[in-house]
Amino acid sequence: MGFFAEYELVVVGAGHAGCEAAIAAANMGIKTLIVTMNLDGIAALSCNPNIGGTGKGHLVREIDALGGYMALNIDKVYLQSRILNISKGPAVHSLRVQADKVRYHEEMKKKLENTKNLTLRQMEVTDIIIADGEVKGIVVRDGRKIKADAVVIATGTYLGGKVFIGSIVYSSGPDGRFPSNILSENLKNHGITLRRLKTGTPARVHRDSLDLDKMEVQHGDEQITPFSFMNDEEDIKRKQLDCYLTHTNRRLHDFIRDNMEKSALYGGLIEGTGPRYCPSIEDKVKRFPDRDDHQVFIEPESESTKEMYVQGMSTSMPEYIQEQMYKMINGMENCKIMRPGYAIEYDAIFGTDLRSTLESKNIKNLFFAGQINGSSGYEEAACQGLIAGINAARNIKGEAPFTIKRDEGYIGVLIDDLVTKISYEPYRMMTARAEYRLSLRQDNADLRLTKKGYDIGLASEKRYERMKHREEIFKEATEELKKYVLTPKEETNEILQKFTAKIKTATSLHDILKRPEVSIFTLLEHFPIKTELSRELMLLVETEIKYEGYIKKTKERIEKHQKEEDRVLGDNFDYDSVKGLKKEALQKLKQIRPETLAQASRISGVSPSDINVLIIHMELEKRHKREQ
Ligand SMILES: Cc1cc2nc3c(=O)[nH]c(=O)nc-3n(C[C@H](O)[C@H](O)[C@H](O)COP(=O)(O)OP(=O)(O)OC[C@H]3O[C@@H](n4cnc5c(N)ncnc54)[C@H](O)[C@@H]3O)c2cc1C
Repeated sequence: MGFFAEYELVVVGAGHAGCEAAIAAANMGIKTLIVTMNLDGIAALSCNPNIGGTGKGHLVREIDALGGYMALNIDKVYLQSRILNISKGPAVHSLRVQADKVRYHEEMKKKLENTKNLTLRQMEVTDIIIADGEVKGIVVRDGRKIKADAVVIATGTYLGGKVFIGSIVYSSGPDGRFPSNILSENLKNHGITLRRLKTGTPARVHRDSLDLDKMEVQHGDEQITPFSFMNDEEDIKRKQLDCYLTHTNRRLHDFIRDNMEKSALYGGLIEGTGPRYCPSIEDKVKRFPDRDDHQVFIEPESESTKEMYVQGMSTSMPEYIQEQMYKMINGMENCKIMRPGYAIEYDAIFGTDLRSTLESKNIKNLFFAGQINGSSGYEEAACQGLIAGINAARNIKGEAPFTIKRDEGYIGVLIDDLVTKISYEPYRMMTARAEYRLSLRQDNADLRLTKKGYDIGLASEKRYERMKHREEIFKEATEELKKYVLTPKEETNEILQKFTAKIKTATSLHDILKRPEVSIFTLLEHFPIKTELSRELMLLVETEIKYEGYIKKTKERIEKHQKEEDRVLGDNFDYDSVKGLKKEALQKLKQIRPETLAQASRISGVSPSDINVLIIHMELEKRHKREQ
């Protein structure tokens, strides 16, 4: 079997998943090839020009904490930065930044070109080579073969890509790039089950054709929070661009209702299922008929273009209808469409065919990452790429699997949901999905994960030292606040009464800070401590002290579940020999083959009583083995 080249790892796709997979594996010393069908499409932000947001910002911070690259890339090219949900609890505080999508692509391409052990090529992969249940390499368009010990497939929305604009339907990837049809067919020929999913995007309009004065300006935050723990605010501070808020209206909703059948989605042309949490404007008009308006955000795409992204107006209506629709929005009466909105349908696998390492359960050393696994979003794709790249590298080195548990990170929640739950719509991360979210905040991602990234040789020494330093300062400050005790002297109470109630007995600053009305900034302004704290570390100390009780309870819950998380079931568990399992549970357990008892308990259709039956069976098996 002649190969014209040989690599340890081949990553198919240079989207958000592929880039993280390739950079991680190369940084772990693996000779890696990353291929894409178009070098100009590397890390393309095909939809919204922003990174982060609720739940997604947590993923980006965790990628960074482990030694991934997305956060460092976006800190270089952001246009506007905001912390969302700041008025709510710290568990849902989420960084969201507008990206210069042109520069995001350029910086990521530069990174791929300048990473040691990494080769970047433009070529189309048409098949994978499998022998004895193991991947052996890839085949490219001209039939040549490349040998590889492991392969990561991260083909995004290109696999079997089909674009819809009203009744216009054509085979294509996003942004007019060509689709990946041959690989799709060959994956099916290898017995890999594919299904159709769909997503959509709004039109891009010319900035000068908008009347922005009619809209509400959205400024960025004054104080910038970097996405990467390797950056301080002053490293990345810049003049920010504005976004603008306007709204749809009843007239537009009626117009859409009158033309609903012209939309590819409601005209019955699209078979794939779309993301519930990124609905098209047609979906919103249909689902919320009584709403008078929906928010529309106008966002800059890049400093080097006049194209503006119309967030909230994703559509698959015909272009001539889109022309009329957008002009009905306040401030867009004269808008000029530069690119039409469209829907795209593509092939994806079932995440339940994968392990928590994102390796296929059926083909050794074949990994899948990103949109192809049934997720939606740059951040969701990137974190999967990171985990797939790490595990491909560890498999090649003969090292143990690397996973993130649900109680360690949002990455763990996302992957566990993908590999245990059969979902028929693209999966978008949200804070509500993380049962331990109070402990999995974006501000402590490095304290939770950097040591794990460092121990596997991915997070750098510098990153590890920086985390240790933050950890020490955090502990020092917390200790100092405990030891700094105020006595109920008159002058002390005079100060306290400026922002809280006076004290009657000796009270530490730590306990005063527990009072909901007390902010650490005000407290330390009046009662400064020796430990020097950055603004972000101050917020971390405040959160850990104010939510100490809840965080403690969360830790107890985690410990309680740990036993089940560690009880391995494994590939060859004989569910047919377990007496008392309900029929549906038996069918689901045999189909999904969960790795642990805890995973089994999260499969829909497997009830707590089924889990008890399993535990009894496992105990009897253990006793039987002991007696033999
Ligand atoms: C129209 C549209 C609307 C979207 N809307 C949303 C949204 O509303 N919300 C949201 O969260 N996300 C949305 N997204 C999704 C977001 O863009 C993706 O989640 C993200 O890009 C997925 O990253 P990925 O790495 O999996 O794949 P992609 O970024 O799609 O990258 C795939 C890569 O694989 C390469 N490739 C594919 N096939 C081959 C092959 N055979 N050989 C070689 N290379 C190959 C491509 O060239 C590309 O480099 C949308 C995407 C599109 C296209």
